[in-house]
Amino acid sequence: VKDKAVNQEKRGQQMGIVVMKFGGTSVGSIERIKKVAERITDKLSEGEQVVVVVSAMGKMTDHLLGLAQQISKRPKKRELDMLLSTGEQQTIALLAMELEERGHLAMSLTGWQAGIWTEQVYGNARIEDIKTGRLWRHLSEGHVVVVAGFQGMAPDQEITTLGRGGSDTSAVTLAAALKASLCEIYTDVDGVYTVDPRVVENARKLKEISYDEMLELAYLGAGILHPRAVENAKKYAVPLTVRSSFDTTSGTVIMGEAHLEKGVAVRGLAFEQKVVKVTLLGLSNDIYTLSTVFQVLAESHINVDVIIQNALDEQQTSISFTLAEDGLEDALEVMNNNKTQLKFRELNVEVDLAKVSIVGSGMVSNPGVAAMMFRTLSDEEIKVKMVSTSEIKVSTIIASDQLTRALNALHHAFQLDDISEDSSAVAE
Ligand code: ADP
Ligand code: ASP
Ligand code: MG
Repeated sequence: VKDKAVNQEKRGQQMGIVVMKFGGTSVGSIERIKKVAERITDKLSEGEQVVVVVSAMGKMTDHLLGLAQQISKRPKKRELDMLLSTGEQQTIALLAMELEERGHLAMSLTGWQAGIWTEQVYGNARIEDIKTGRLWRHLSEGHVVVVAGFQGMAPDQEITTLGRGGSDTSAVTLAAALKASLCEIYTDVDGVYTVDPRVVENARKLKEISYDEMLELAYLGAGILHPRAVENAKKYAVPLTVRSSFDTTSGTVIMGEAHLEKGVAVRGLAFEQKVVKVTLLGLSNDIYTLSTVFQVLAESHINVDVIIQNALDEQQTSISFTLAEDGLEDALEVMNNNKTQLKFRELNVEVDLAKVSIVGSGMVSNPGVAAMMFRTLSDEEIKVKMVSTSEIKVSTIIASDQLTRALNALHHAFQLDDISEDSSAVAE
């Protein structure tokens, strides 16, 4: 088995496999699918072996979710995955047909046919293993293999999905398993920008960014890449680029820290909307309070984000935490059901909040960065309600109607406006 694995690894390198991933907008119509086939043809003519990963066409995943909602507010997650996985299955078949029309050998594969095994979790499964046997077979027969993104199979032959945006993770993980020389994410922007170019007009395209910075931006809300895709790219050192499916500009390279320009305090900004803050007042100020509150939330699978504890005096404390708006109903239910155990006097909720973060690996050695962020926001008369930091990021919670102003001011203050730009932001 080991020899076989070594052989395949060698084969992967010799073959020069490239994984090309195309997102929803990029395959949003038959016309677009034809353009994608053209890009693949170009790649093949460079002598590469190609594995393609595609998303569902356009807004198909949202459409399917909408259909489910017409039947049930809380459909079974198993059936939701069964439904959502059909979106990608349409695209692989259509693209394979188009490639065949152009005279290539092409083979579409669903997640499970491609050997993508996940954990037994619906809606947000992690890939645990990729059995590459069938992929190698089709590649060595000369096929372009077209794999459905966003899906896999769990033990018991259950279809699972990887979470919204998860096709990026399918692509990167396939690239790692096949020891591909490159994983290219083709999308509707021509690279990773300092901030979402749809929201900040002055956003600048980055030529390169480190895995760690990209990971942080992705976790903090930059929708350009699925966080687990970046996680796996870093773990398996997959060469990764993000580029436009509409033109041939060069895109952004995501790479290891060592090869990057040093000392950049802030590389980019990220934000999340629909954040809410829950405050429990009048809690008893003993050493168990914090653990009890968060144990109760964790047991109900409620994801909390920023946390603050405020001791009033020896007897009383309050705890605030933020979470995504769509988790609020569940959180309130849990808090109120456990009121006797938690012993809080009052519960307050603040809605319409946003989280704004600055990210950069040079922050570790630049002590003034957080101060600069707070000053910039106060100069704009934006009140910071909560703060959380790590070595390479500072996040603040603010009112959501001040979000655009905050992003623009921070972009300017950290001199991201000054990065020279070689192409336009959003294609078409
Ligand atoms: P796809 O369907 O190709 O996966 P996505 O919609 O998931 O495309 O991701 C592309 C979008 O990500 C862009 O249209 C852009 O609005 C958004 N985005 C958010 N943050 C960034 C960023 N820092 N740089 C570039 N795009 C970003
Ligand atoms: N189609 C899925 C989604 O819309 C997965 C993806 O596009 O990456 O979230
Ligand atoms: Mg995406």
